[in-house]
Amino acid sequence: MIEPGGYIRDIFNKPVGTPVEAYGWVKTRRDSKGVSFIQLNDGSAFQDLQVVVDAGTIPEEALSQATTGACLRVSGALVDSPGSGQAVELKATGIHVYGAADPATYPLQKKGHTMEFLREIAHLRTRSNTFGAVFRVRNALSFAVHKFFQERGFLYVTTPIITTSDAEGAGAMFGVSTLDLMNLPRTPQGGIDHAQDFFGKKASLTVSGQLEAEIFALAFSNVYTFGPTFRAENSNTPRHLAEFWMIEPEMAFCDLDGNRKLAEAFLKYIIAHVLDQCAADLEFFNKRIDNTVLETLEHVAGSDFGHVSYTEAIRILEQSGRDWEFPVRWGVDLQAEHERYLTEETFKKPVIVTDYPREIKAFYMRLNDDEKTVRAMDVLAPRIGEIIGGSQREERHDVLRDKIRAQGLPEEHYWWYLELRKYGTAPHAGFGLGLERMLMYLTGMKNIRDVIPFPRTPGYAEF
Ligand code: ATP
Ligand code: MN
Repeated sequence: MIEPGGYIRDIFNKPVGTPVEAYGWVKTRRDSKGVSFIQLNDGSAFQDLQVVVDAGTIPEEALSQATTGACLRVSGALVDSPGSGQAVELKATGIHVYGAADPATYPLQKKGHTMEFLREIAHLRTRSNTFGAVFRVRNALSFAVHKFFQERGFLYVTTPIITTSDAEGAGAMFGVSTLDLMNLPRTPQGGIDHAQDFFGKKASLTVSGQLEAEIFALAFSNVYTFGPTFRAENSNTPRHLAEFWMIEPEMAFCDLDGNRKLAEAFLKYIIAHVLDQCAADLEFFNKRIDNTVLETLEHVAGSDFGHVSYTEAIRILEQSGRDWEFPVRWGVDLQAEHERYLTEETFKKPVIVTDYPREIKAFYMRLNDDEKTVRAMDVLAPRIGEIIGGSQREERHDVLRDKIRAQGLPEEHYWWYLELRKYGTAPHAGFGLGLERMLMYLTGMKNIRDVIPFPRTPGYAEF
């Protein structure tokens, strides 16, 4: 029997002399006279286990196959390591090769691969130093998200992935249909007759779980979603995916200030957790990907976020003397260049911008008394720009109905959303954090395609 759980990371903590069996894949191999060094990694830690093989102690047939990429079981005893870089190493007395990897064709060679090439071998890039670290951080981050909310009594709710409410309005949607594309049923007006489709009406992949999360907040007080979302926007940027993961807390009895405080506490908590759990991985990112990562994270975990109103932010941008690609005046949406200026130059730390013009924000955001701005907030982070978008929601039935009408939205689609305001409404607020944007921030990785296992972007959905 082979049981799971014999991790290499635990081997490092065993005393010298302990007999051990180690399982993993060969990262590199080096031979010098009389001895071979094999770096073995099972994904449990950044650090490889150094396996030392003295000439003649292992049958040549096994040793010759223990090359980069091969999968091995190594038995032996732990000894003090004379080399730098590790305290102990494994002196091999036996090697079993589960799967060899022909060195002539194995695509993942030692180093020097571009991120673009590694994306093409997403079935093997997981064994590289970089992607090992990325996915351990992703794992720790996901756990920290649940831990933060569970410790505060939030209810975890899964909202639908397939939706027939085109009410969300957060971005272009992917259609979900079983209709025969070669032979589409038509309405008398010549449109597509979705009445004959699988759900009896037009269906899509969700762009956000927020509206359904609001239903749950107005029964369970504090809730959060953590699931996949989909956007068919054709934006081929290093920070947009067509399929990404979003965390959306929604809180009853909470206003914009409460929302802002929670977002800040949340970001600090998950950063502290990852700093604590993934020290070796973050050190690697700091050394090899972006030498500001550790400094920035420690700084953010320990400092108060900036806060500025949209109106004030516009004034700062207008007075900056910069020659903006996208011109600035009150009423325009902030572009990445503006967001980065505010967080990197003005505040030099994360900053929360609130109270945006109603015209550029969603209909569900609570209208301020000035009737020109809404209780929106975006959290901007250095290097990334927006990582969180949120708001206090409009809880007044008639104000919400009027906003839906004013934006020309089909009121009948929002019947249940409006009824939440008719029966037992409450002040409430929430926000959305893109998991992959947060990962870019934590790791310093420059392209969002490299912090998700298998990226989906315009023209690309491999693996
Ligand atoms: P952006 O202006 O950057 O496109 P957005 O205003 O469309 O963002 P929201 O609708 O507020 O974003 O979504 C909430 C969060 O989800 C964002 O703050 C961001 O972290 C993340 N996000 C949005 N779109 C994408 C995407 N296409 N790929 C990855 N993450 C995304
Ligand atoms: Mn967008």
